[in-house]
Amino acid sequence: MAAISAPRGTRDILPAESWKWSYIINTASQTMRDFGFSEIHLPIFEHTELFSRGVGETTDIVEKEMYTFEDRGGRSITLRPEATAGVMRAAIENNLCVQGASAKLWNWGPMFRHERPQKGRYRQFYQIDAECLGIAGAMADVEVIALSIEIFRRLGLKNLEVVINSVGCEKCRPVYRQKLIEYFDSHKDELCETCLTRLERNPLRILDCKNPSCGHVADGAPDIYDSLCDECKEHFAEVRAGLERLGFTYTLNKRLVRGLDYYTKTAYEILSGALGAQNAVAGGGRYDNLSSAVGGAKIPGVGFACGLDRVMLVMEEQGCDFGEMPKTEVYVAALDDDARGAAQILTYELRKNKIASACDTAGKSFKAQMKIAGACKFACIIGADEIANNAVSIKDMRSGSQVNISMSDAVKYILGRD
Ligand code: AMP
Repeated sequence: MAAISAPRGTRDILPAESWKWSYIINTASQTMRDFGFSEIHLPIFEHTELFSRGVGETTDIVEKEMYTFEDRGGRSITLRPEATAGVMRAAIENNLCVQGASAKLWNWGPMFRHERPQKGRYRQFYQIDAECLGIAGAMADVEVIALSIEIFRRLGLKNLEVVINSVGCEKCRPVYRQKLIEYFDSHKDELCETCLTRLERNPLRILDCKNPSCGHVADGAPDIYDSLCDECKEHFAEVRAGLERLGFTYTLNKRLVRGLDYYTKTAYEILSGALGAQNAVAGGGRYDNLSSAVGGAKIPGVGFACGLDRVMLVMEEQGCDFGEMPKTEVYVAALDDDARGAAQILTYELRKNKIASACDTAGKSFKAQMKIAGACKFACIIGADEIANNAVSIKDMRSGSQVNISMSDAVKYILGRD
């Protein structure tokens, strides 16, 4: 029988890499805490409607990328393609933002999109996600953008570019949308097939099409800033002033619209030159209409999602520091079979005292055990003499020096040395 492989677009995060993931998550977690964000855990699957209504029927995600299936009860279920809609659903369902309350929430985990896999793009990928719900003012946008930048600063990512835009609101976007339709309609012969289908349904998406010909047309498209209503203009000016106040540099990109319908006002991305085509390490923005789209009362929100797989790629490429790989500090070696039981008892004692330790459980020879011990700080050696004297020999593997001490002092001895 042929061996079964992992599905296309998924991959295994093996021990050689997983400790680096923990480092990134721990750094993000600490940063979230410093910014006042609390962790929440959400279902990995939701009712399909949450995404079709929340993310938007005309988005790439809903049109062609969702993993949707009927469960045994005949309900349409979707593996979450992104986290924001789920966070909003949870906030509404659990009354987190009633009577003017706000909630700052973060989570991390796998997301699922049926995309064409390539470097930095997977079908199961991981996001770190932060959402600030219940605050309409621009200072919240600034705080969220600052949070994402701070996570990357702590991780040591270099040469990042922060790109921002405003995509307007339900008052001014329809006007802009109409201007775009008229403009693109007069350049129909230069647009790709996908953009032709976007023309009536979602003309804003033509702005960020990667096709060079569409890009050329989009460069000449009407400027969204000319269409923004006073409220959106003022909000955008406040976001920019806030970023400048904190000393951040950013670029404006009027073609940044992002792939999800729920954005209003601020949209932003953080790009890395180290990544090639899939160059966004994080993206986010404001989504004041999402809560009503999924059937709740109006709750403004702003947040971001950061692609963990891509952060990992950039950190590897830029030689960033991941701290120290966790390793076994003490190896307890049994000289002969009679000492194996005592070795296991001492190992358990060490572990109870939070000393990372190991002993052989596979019947390896003493020589083979000492080879493994060579990578540790200490080897505890137990043979017939040690058992007879209720003692243990402890060898410092770095200096080669060895002492013989009473078994009951072993833990204290190791804790006292480093
Ligand atoms: P989005 O949810 O599309 O706004 O994406 C937010 C971030 O998630 C992006 O900036 C990427 O870093 C990451 N991301 C999105 N899609 C994928 C994917 N298919 N594979 C890996 N990372 C992704």
